Parts: sequence; structure tokens; C-alpha cells
Amino acid sequence: MKVLISADMEGTCGVVSWTQVMPPEVVGSSEPSSQDRYLRTRQRMTAEVNAAVEGALAGGAEEVIVNDSHDGMRNLIPDELHPAVRFITGNDKPLGMVQGVDLDGVGALFYTGYHAKAGTPAAPLAHTWTGWLNDVRIDGVSTGEFGINAVAAGYYGVPVTLVTGDDKAVAQTQALLGEQVVGAVVKEGISTHAALHLHPARAREVIREAAEAAVRLAGEATPFPLPAGASVELTFDHQARADQAVLVPGVVRTGERSVAWIPENGGEFIRVFRAVMACAGIRMSP
Ligand SMILES: [Zn+2]
Repeated sequence: MKVLISADMEGTCGVVSWTQVMPPEVVGSSEPSSQDRYLRTRQRMTAEVNAAVEGALAGGAEEVIVNDSHDGMRNLIPDELHPAVRFITGNDKPLGMVQGVDLDGVGALFYTGYHAKAGTPAAPLAHTWTGWLNDVRIDGVSTGEFGINAVAAGYYGVPVTLVTGDDKAVAQTQALLGEQVVGAVVKEGISTHAALHLHPARAREVIREAAEAAVRLAGEATPFPLPAGASVELTFDHQARADQAVLVPGVVRTGERSVAWIPENGGEFIRVFRAVMACAGIRMSP
């Protein structure tokens, strides 16, 4: 069995600020230290991914493929990655954060560095996809990236079996997908911008152990398909985004800042979701 790792960055041990996870040119920060902070997080993210790879291989995975899933998706440091992996980088991938889940032989999806959904209290850098998507409800259930990506993976028959990140991210993922998802909590959220962390070395140990267990349990895990007839509803931070989102065929307005559609299946869901987000991602002062 092959394992795909969807590697996000905000849930990495030590991270509580956007200046730690965004390339300085994106943040537009003149703070001289943000380049250093971002580089340190890249190193720690790569080390946490390596811990998950070591655990996966110890648990019997035949191959591990890593998909960089944060922002521009060029965060992992290739030369510092575990030598056994192949890795995917770059943005604008058809499957986004779960690119590679459709590859032959992939039998488990790992989430590393994950964060809680938008609006969650006491959860470092909680958000969903962008800073302006306030909520996603799939079949009436509010969810975050962990749910969006589980549906996309479910279309390909691949279950999620590991989540690493802050305590709220782990709890929300397990609440949606069940105890088949092994959790590795590397920090406990205090606020959106504060957390109580494990030591980074201890965090890697916890991730390694959880990843090994997650491979051993993967045979019994079940994928998360989109329920038949389920609607997907998005709520934005501004009505102007909903104005544009309804340009996507099949998407209708359901409220001042909300739109919805009924996907055929999980594969269509992720494509339409990405199209809606592209339309809604307008400049707010055109
Ligand atoms: Zn991210």
C-alpha cells in the first residue's frame, strides 16, 4: 500500500503566526525577521513530514508520496526530505491539497500540519482554504479543509487515517471521520495566535508513532464518500463574492453571502469547489 501525505503548514509545532507560514513577499511584511521565521517553519514542516514518512515505512507502507499543500505549495525543502519519498510541489493542481490521491496503489491519506476550520476558538490560525471563506457545510455539516479533502479522497476510495496538528484540528477531523483517524497533537491552542507546544523533537516522535499506527490500521479504514444528493453550501465574508460564485453553472444563491450546489459525486465536488473559489476570489476594491 502506498501512502499520500497532504502536508499543510499551519498545524506545525511552534507555529502561531502568519509571519511564520507565509513567504515574506506574500505577507508584504517589512519585518526583517519574517524570512527567517518562514524558513524555520519550512524546516520544521519538512522534519514533521519526515517523521510521518518514517512511521509509515515502519508500519509497512511500500511507498510514501508527499503533496505540498500550503499556500503556493512550494514550502517543503526537497533536499531535506526523507530519501524514500517522491513529492509533489506547486499550485493550481486539479486535486489541490490531495493531488496524488488518484495514483495507483494509494491506500491511505495522511494529513500533516493541519489546522481547525474557520471560526474555531482557541485554534492557531484556524481558517478554511482562504481568509474569506467563513464556512463550508457539506450535507448540512460545517467542516474545514479536513472535510473537503476527505470527500475528494473518498471519491477515489482512499480513507484518511492520520491527522497531525493542533488539538482542535485533530478533534474536528476525528469528529467528522471517526476514530479510524489516528491523531497526533503537537500543540494545544490557546487563541488564534497562541498555543502550548510540545518540544519539536517530542512532536516528531508523536507523529512518527501515530503514522506507524495509522498504516497498520489503514486496511480497516473506510473512505468518506459524498452522501447521495448532499448539498454543499459556502458562506463568504462579503456578498460581492457570492455575486461572482453564482457564475459557475449549477451554483445558486442561498443567502446574502452564501451559495450552494448539489454535486454529482466527490470528484465533481472538488472541481466545482475550486471553480467557485476562483470566481469568488475577486479583489474587493475593483
Ligand atoms: Zn496552509
